[in-house]
Amino acid sequence: MVKENEKLREQVLQGCRGLAAYGLGSGLGGHVSVRYPDEPYFYMHVFERTFEEMQLEDIILIDFDGNPVNSNRAPSIGIDFHPAIYKKRPDVQSVVHSHGFWITAQAAFARPPRIFANVSAVFHERTTLSPNDDFESIGKAVGEDDIAIVIPWHGAITVGSSLGEAVARHVVFDYTARMDVTLPPHTPTMPHEQCAHLREIVERADYYNETWKLIQRKAKAGYDGQRVIPNVF
Ligand SMILES: [Zn+2]
Repeated sequence: MVKENEKLREQVLQGCRGLAAYGLGSGLGGHVSVRYPDEPYFYMHVFERTFEEMQLEDIILIDFDGNPVNSNRAPSIGIDFHPAIYKKRPDVQSVVHSHGFWITAQAAFARPPRIFANVSAVFHERTTLSPNDDFESIGKAVGEDDIAIVIPWHGAITVGSSLGEAVARHVVFDYTARMDVTLPPHTPTMPHEQCAHLREIVERADYYNETWKLIQRKAKAGYDGQRVIPNVF
């Protein structure tokens, strides 16, 4: 039997609470997972809790067939794309999916978000569109450099080389989606060369790592032992 990794369980919990602190977890649905190193397993939370409500006991080990390993509690039924992304993309260590309000509103456009801001430049030409949330759809769509997947009329997925990166990308993707939804159609989008330049600066500044630290601070400040109070921005 595979040994539990408490550090990874704690990370998933931090991811859930962090997303909740940004108002991304107030309903059922959405998932946060992290790969179990070198083994065909990953950690994810159970289905029947919101991100706000999640506790350590709700984070369970799951095999690549989607079955809980040491628990009789159930994850969401729509998690096939997690193990499938882990199999297809060895670089991906964490997968985050939510129905955040702005993410889901933007997904109704059935296209990647328009880019208007420096921190959003990382998503330029690295966001793909999947017709559905099963891996048959996502597998065909996801490229080797993609970091975000829009699922029309549903929500979005972000991936990362660590859980912190996947969660930070999710929070910024929500911000990016909000700009796309709220700025008028004629607003000029960022030119391709500017996107490439700003992406380089944002990465050099370690923006996403710092954002993950901020998300953790906000989650800690908003968590009163029972629930996270969302700081919706
Ligand atoms: Zn979903």
